[in-house]
Amino acid sequence: MHDSEALAREVIARCQTLASFSEDPGSIRRTFLSPPMRECHREIARWLVPLGVTSKLDAVGNLRMLYPAVDQDAPRLLIGSHLDTVPNAGAYDGILGVVLAIALLSAINGRTLPFAIEVVGFSEEEGVRFSTPFIGSRALVGSLDEELLSRQDARGVSIRQAIADFGLNPAEIPQAAVHEGVLGYVEFHIEQGPILENARRPLGVVEAIAGQHRLEFTFVGHANHAGTTPMNLRHDALAGAAEWISAVERRAQDTSGLVATVGSIQAKPGAVNVIAGETRLSLDVRHQYDQEWKRAVDYFVSRAEDIAKRRGLSVRSNVLMDQPAVAMDPFLVRHVDEAVRRAGCEPYRMVSGAGHDAMIMAEKVPSAMIFLRTPGGISHDPAESVEVGDVAKAIDCGVHLLDQLASSSDFQSGFPRKKQHA
Ligand SMILES: [Zn+2]
Repeated sequence: MHDSEALAREVIARCQTLASFSEDPGSIRRTFLSPPMRECHREIARWLVPLGVTSKLDAVGNLRMLYPAVDQDAPRLLIGSHLDTVPNAGAYDGILGVVLAIALLSAINGRTLPFAIEVVGFSEEEGVRFSTPFIGSRALVGSLDEELLSRQDARGVSIRQAIADFGLNPAEIPQAAVHEGVLGYVEFHIEQGPILENARRPLGVVEAIAGQHRLEFTFVGHANHAGTTPMNLRHDALAGAAEWISAVERRAQDTSGLVATVGSIQAKPGAVNVIAGETRLSLDVRHQYDQEWKRAVDYFVSRAEDIAKRRGLSVRSNVLMDQPAVAMDPFLVRHVDEAVRRAGCEPYRMVSGAGHDAMIMAEKVPSAMIFLRTPGGISHDPAESVEVGDVAKAIDCGVHLLDQLASSSDFQSGFPRKKQHA
């Protein structure tokens, strides 16, 4: 039997070690195929030696680590997360999922399972360098197209060029894609929010990853003199926008599971003594169920039109992003529930408000996600942390999950995949 506390302490220490490979002195920043990513790969490869696990980089720089089954042609289960970070990052977002997967290989201690385990350290998830997230997982599902590969970073280097500069061959990207022999994808990740901490639960079972819908609204009125224009003769685009923001907040507060955020506002001409003639606002709307966010967006558009009409303004809106909600695989989710229970925790079902590699992987492969409680809900910040006890519970959960799947003929026959596509 493995010592999960000792493994958990090692996981945390290893996350801290990887945090030292950074583009910025004094803080963590490791973007797609940056030089510190190479040091990160080298360090991880060192940990794999005693496990007898080999690693290689695929053509987009994902670190692929194979723990074989007895049968060379056995199907495989993927477990992973991402190795890139945001600027001024914490040590655990993404990284923990990769390091924890490697700890699971230590925990099963040389046992062979009826399926191989491939640990994946995705090269890019955060979208920092190219303003395009999920480059790593998109390669696995085969959705990295020409248009994406020609996107450029701030210095004018394309994704394709960045791949070549790192010594990889963009022509080999199709070989990075997963094929029929992949049974599923499991991702451990910190929650990055306060829900588990508030519920006093160490682990969360992700049922779905919420869709993300971003729109831009522009209210147009008449700019005019702040001193000479009486209140009843104004067409104030900023006051109209303010009324609408309050309506957005109220609706989201009153709708279970809905979050809606106006995070950015620009008023023109933007002077202290001029009534705003135009206001541009961002709107981000998320819900687990597509019908719910759609209903909310329809409401937000019609409220904007009502408010504009009453105030003698005009309003237009356009969609910037439309990412549907992604359900995790029900078969795997039930097994994760059971594994969490066997690890001594009460399963806590939840929806991920943030996007993750599992969202992309789910397009091709039955996928599941386990969240770890995030102290203070703090993430994307150097203060990001995890509790040793929670990491130990996650390791126990992972070992139970592997045992359960190893004794499930339904899982190994690819039953969940067929079921998902039924
Ligand atoms: Zn992440």
